[in-house]
Amino acid sequence: MLNHPEMTEKMWDLIVVGGGMAGVAAAVAAKRNGLDVLIIEKTGFLGGAPGTMLINPFMPYSTTVDHKRFDLSRGFFSELRALLKEIGGYADGREDIHEEYLKLALDRLVTKEKIQPLFHAVLCGVEKDGETLTAVKAATKAGVLRFQARCFIDATGDADLAVAAGCPYHLGRPDGLCQPMTLCFRIGNVDIPVFNRHREEMQQKYKQLQAEGKIKNPRENVLIFNTLVDGVLHFNTTRVVKHDPTDPFEVTEAEMIAREQMLEMYTFLKENCPGFEHSQLLYSAGEIGVRESRMIDGEYLLTEEDLRACVKFEDAVAAGNYDIDIHNPEGSGTSHYYFPAGTWYTIPYRSLQPKNADNLLVAGRCISSTHEAQASYRVMPIVTTLGQAAGTAAAIAVKTGVGVKQIDVSELQKALTENGAFIGL
Ligand SMILES: Cc1cc2nc3c(=O)[nH]c(=O)nc-3n(C[C@H](O)[C@H](O)[C@H](O)COP(=O)(O)OP(=O)(O)OC[C@H]3O[C@@H](n4cnc5c(N)ncnc54)[C@H](O)[C@@H]3O)c2cc1C
Repeated sequence: MLNHPEMTEKMWDLIVVGGGMAGVAAAVAAKRNGLDVLIIEKTGFLGGAPGTMLINPFMPYSTTVDHKRFDLSRGFFSELRALLKEIGGYADGREDIHEEYLKLALDRLVTKEKIQPLFHAVLCGVEKDGETLTAVKAATKAGVLRFQARCFIDATGDADLAVAAGCPYHLGRPDGLCQPMTLCFRIGNVDIPVFNRHREEMQQKYKQLQAEGKIKNPRENVLIFNTLVDGVLHFNTTRVVKHDPTDPFEVTEAEMIAREQMLEMYTFLKENCPGFEHSQLLYSAGEIGVRESRMIDGEYLLTEEDLRACVKFEDAVAAGNYDIDIHNPEGSGTSHYYFPAGTWYTIPYRSLQPKNADNLLVAGRCISSTHEAQASYRVMPIVTTLGQAAGTAAAIAVKTGVGVKQIDVSELQKALTENGAFIGL
């Protein structure tokens, strides 16, 4: 029996499913605009990918205008960076984040804002009346709980709620392949100054052993980032291709393949790379990293052409210029398209709107787009701005008593801008 029956009996203004960057940003924006918000999250913390998949650092989110740095991801994202910095979980300029501080910062934030989080609760059902979602169900240790709300935001990364609600979607590219999955991991006790002097020869040795068939990992090079912890390096370098991130058996196999790649990499570095002699394998992420999976087929499908043309949509709610960064879904290689300095694309509000639902928005890496467009906006700074947009839009819809597609978009844009966001126009 649940000890808190009021939680399941009340009518929430907004339920956000998924407490990653997009979900938290959505919840905070909605709450600050007057809604009573529940976040349903399957893990035991907020922040999503940095904690679940060990993702670090924040990818670039600024450009240069008039010879000055110009941040494209602002608003709640800027506030989050400041909060993290205050408690020592973020290094300005380097953009490294410490996931433990992030979890804490978000706990404190939702507590202060009086947002109700529910951890260890996995979405497992939805109720709909015509095109209106009325309730969601979540599997918990207390059994399956049912929650009702006026409005819903799907911030699960995989569009779990939109798919459960019968909204159309696609998986990855037209052939169904998605960007590779990567199990991130950390190695400690590395003599980093020594390693830095041998980085290039390490990359050459890796390629040589891969060509000789002694390294099985198909990734073309070794992708390493610094961390905020002395002597600890972050590895974003395992690569599992041709596995469906939404098929639990394929994900199970992918996790096991990736763990073998992790050990292969650690052994390679220890045996071949100065600086790793006394290193120790620390830990891998709790979940294999999913760059891409399902995306809704919403009211507007954002494309690579839109991004390259830096289209300024009339209903823009966010902007970005992170490169179109495609890790080859079939094997080796990573392609990039970099945006010229001083340019950015925008993301229309319609891309957050699923079809066949009038009180549901989608935020984060599963909005309505093609594989190529997703390869750019999927990074943490941009998905956070999408969350802020979705939460603000939900608040306007609930307060004015209309569907999410009927709100006055100029009111949404004004509210976002007043709250520090840059919508790209
Ligand atoms: C290997 C890898 C490396 C990356 N590197 C970088 C990088 O260096 N910098 C960068 O900025 N970005 C990077 N990214 C991209 C970025 O981390 C993610 O795309 C982004 O964080 C996604 O945010 P989100 O809020 O949309 O989803 P998520 O962060 O995935 O959040 C979704 C949340 O929903 C929860 N959830 C999911 N399903 C359910 C359900 N059914 N019921 C309840 N809860 C659910 C999850 O537990 C999670 O907390 C990387 C991604 C990967 C996989």
